[in-house]
Parts: sequence; structure tokens; C-alpha cells
Amino acid sequence: MADFNTHIATSTVVGVGVGLAGYAILDTPEPSRVISCMLATGLCSLAGILPDLDSGSGRPLRETSSILAAVVPMLMVDRFQHMGMNAEAIALAGALVYITIRFGVVEIFKRYTVHRGMWHSIPAAISCTLLAFLVVSGENLEVRIFKSAAVFIGFMVHLILDEIWSVEWKGTHFHFKKSFGTAIKFWYAKNLWSNISTYGKLIALIFIAVGDPVMMEHYHFHRSQHEIQQQLATEAEAELQSPQIATEPMPTFNR
Ligand SMILES: [Zn+2]
Repeated sequence: MADFNTHIATSTVVGVGVGLAGYAILDTPEPSRVISCMLATGLCSLAGILPDLDSGSGRPLRETSSILAAVVPMLMVDRFQHMGMNAEAIALAGALVYITIRFGVVEIFKRYTVHRGMWHSIPAAISCTLLAFLVVSGENLEVRIFKSAAVFIGFMVHLILDEIWSVEWKGTHFHFKKSFGTAIKFWYAKNLWSNISTYGKLIALIFIAVGDPVMMEHYHFHRSQHEIQQQLATEAEAELQSPQIATEPMPTFNR
């Protein structure tokens, strides 16, 4: 298998490409467009080391979990705000997410995954993509899909590298190592239960992700103070521009 450095370097380079492509495609206002693209680069880079969370021990698990634990709470700040949480509650929630990933998720991976099991698979890549979709909130669906796609690409870059590394050139012919075909797969022949579990989680995530925009719509009613002020400002602007109102005396705002 390709080592940690190869994985992170390749997924970062690909991530830069994803970010640049996003900059050309997205039509959100600045500076949020640049930030979204940089974030997508980071997500792609990070996703490139995700599959090796199943390595049991050592650097990939340690490094990946530390980075994830630090980054995921930051990605969720916007979501927490939409849920109407104040700064203190967000800090607390962020700390809880950190602890959950740093200790809980790592322990789960150590116990319940085997290297090159179903965590190195296409359904796992799709599950991570959906998880990313749920973690990065925000009203703009296009941006959310873009960031999630960056995760999918990063994850797939890892799987492709693993497959490339399982082919050796022996001077006269290619030799396929035993690991060939164990990264890009839909099914794990050695363990039926891991297949059921992986596809079960995938189906559950599909349902949650499909329902999420509706849920966000709901949370949108509990808007942040900033959004309420923004809406008041746009309403006031619209009233000022409206020709009917223009003939009437200027409304006064008491805030
Ligand atoms: Zn791998």
C-alpha cells in the first residue's frame, strides 16, 4: 500500500485542483467562494487519508483522528449557529465533537474494522461523502454538494493509489500483489456481516441526507441575530426602492 505521505501529498494536489475547479464553477459571492474552495481542498486532502483509519494502529490512525477531531468541530460551527446556539454552547458542542472523534471514533475503528475490509470500499466512500454533506451545513445546496464531492474525490484517490501500489513491474511483466482488488470494491467476501453493516449505514445516511435540507429549512426559522438583522436591512432597502412607497413620507425605524 502507498504510505501515509504519498496518500496525503497526492490527495492534497488533487484537492488543489478540486478547489480551482470549484472556483470556476461556483457563483457564490466573495469571499465565501474562496473560503468554500479552500475548504474543499482541505476536505479532499483529509479524505485522502481517511480510509487508513482501519489500519489498527500507528501513524495513519493517530494523525487522521487528530486532524479530524480538530477540523470537524470547526466545520460544524455554521450548523450549530443555525440551530440557534450561542457562542458558549457552540464551544461546548465543539469540545464534545472533538472528544467523541478523538476517543470514541478511534476506539470503534480499532475494534470493529480490519485493514482493507469494508472501510476500503466504494460504499464507504459514499457514506463519508454523505457524512460530509451533513457536517458542512449552510443554505447553499450547491456549495454543500461541492464540498461533499471533494470528500468523495479524496477518498477515491486513496483507493486508486492503494490499487496502483498493488501492481508491481517485474522487469518483463506486471505482478499483481495479493492486495490487488481489495481497495476499490463493493463487497468484502471474507465477512458477510461487514457488508450488511456498511450498506445498512449507507442506506441510513442516504435517508438522513435526503431529509436534511428540510430539517435545515426548519432550523432556519430559529435564525441567528445576524440573519434577522440582514433580513430587516434588505426589507428596508426594498421598501425604499419601491415606487409606491417612494411618494410616501420616509418610514422611521426604531430599533
Ligand atoms: Zn489504504
